[in-house]
Amino acid sequence: MTNSLRGFRDILPPDSELFARIEAAARVVFGLYGYQELRIPTLEQKELFVKSTGDTTDIVEKEMYAFTDGGGREVALRPEGTPGVVRAYIQNNLAQTGRNGKYFYLGSMFRAERPQAGRYREFTQIGAEYIGNPAPAADAESISMLVRFLEKAGVAECSVVINSLGCAECRKAYREILLGFLRGKAEKLCEPCRGRIERNPLRALDCKTDGPWLTSEAPKRALCPACETHFSGTQRLLSAAAVAYQVNTSLVRGLDYYTGTVFEVRSGALGSQDAVCGGGRYDDLVKSMGGPAAPAIGWAVGLDRMAMLLKDKPAPDTAPRAFVIAAAKEAGDRAFALLTALRADGISADFSNFELSLKSQMRSAGKSGAAFALLIGEDELKAGTAAVKPMKEGGEQFTVPLAEAPVKIKELLRGI
Ligand code: ATP
Ligand code: MG
Repeated sequence: MTNSLRGFRDILPPDSELFARIEAAARVVFGLYGYQELRIPTLEQKELFVKSTGDTTDIVEKEMYAFTDGGGREVALRPEGTPGVVRAYIQNNLAQTGRNGKYFYLGSMFRAERPQAGRYREFTQIGAEYIGNPAPAADAESISMLVRFLEKAGVAECSVVINSLGCAECRKAYREILLGFLRGKAEKLCEPCRGRIERNPLRALDCKTDGPWLTSEAPKRALCPACETHFSGTQRLLSAAAVAYQVNTSLVRGLDYYTGTVFEVRSGALGSQDAVCGGGRYDDLVKSMGGPAAPAIGWAVGLDRMAMLLKDKPAPDTAPRAFVIAAAKEAGDRAFALLTALRADGISADFSNFELSLKSQMRSAGKSGAAFALLIGEDELKAGTAAVKPMKEGGEQFTVPLAEAPVKIKELLRGI
């Protein structure tokens, strides 16, 4: 027996139905906001992530599934969606040919992290990117769409935390202040942080080990007047959109490309892996990747963690409505035709194996959770009828002409 790899899992029913429900909610809500789906490749040139996500980030430095393929190309399984979306935007000239710069994606991401509850090596994200609008309304729209999506999917008790990292100028000034502070604390820092503070001091604030104490001790960031106005405008519009949020000036996101607004959605119900979603502005990324100057904002939700939050919600009933049984040796073909007719009429129907005994087929019908069993035995075969047996205790069996079976079943289902 060859098992699956560590951190790579099978998502079985009913969890798979939860995932489908979340995806359906996303499509409905995103449609209201004018987002279109972008299907991007799973495998890209490694360089794409090194240049965009950033080579001092955990994602690229430690967690990326990167390898040399048979043709000697340096490739990587995507650890996140934004770089691929930005590449697609540039490569396909979507700035000119696209509708409004609003795109969503959905699919597997890969990170070689230590597997634990809510943390896998292959996991699913839904992400939304809004490229080309620099105004606070874009930030507020993006965050409110996220909140409405979480609500629609049935996720409650989440908190939205926002911050602004400021523009390149604000960050440059803060970088110097922070670097001075970190150099003074070098001997207290963990090994990886000591190695990277000179390259990217902000990353230390996002470190899983040193982040918590650093964010309380380090000097707080300051914003230039333009960034301050943008951030307060975003907050005003979030309130206008009835989105509840908290400002946390210690929130730094682990990716290099963020500028201005950053945010996270967390849920206490998740334990230590409490982040459901992360996102922010990336005003310089499109240009730095070789595209037009196109300020942008986006986020990605982890479906695996979202599904954990929905686990206790009643799952949609996916049991078949009808279960067809052949109760005589020659009744199989007729039973198969009935199964086909029921489905054609929109009634979910199932069967087991017409060649097995009545008892065995009845057992399968019970296991299926169907509301009605439809039996065709010798008598029914002769008369052109089916026997309908309600599976609920005490239900009375009766006979219907075959042609009327779908209509009759629909009528009965309405009464349940
Ligand atoms: P964390 O701090 O939990 O490592 P992150 O900052 O690395 O999260 P992002 O890159 O912002 O996460 O990804 C967005 C979302 O994707 C996260 O909020 C989380 O729900 C989900 N996610 C990230 N990594 C994993 C993983 N290894 N397994 C499952 N879900 C994940
Ligand atoms: Mg992570």
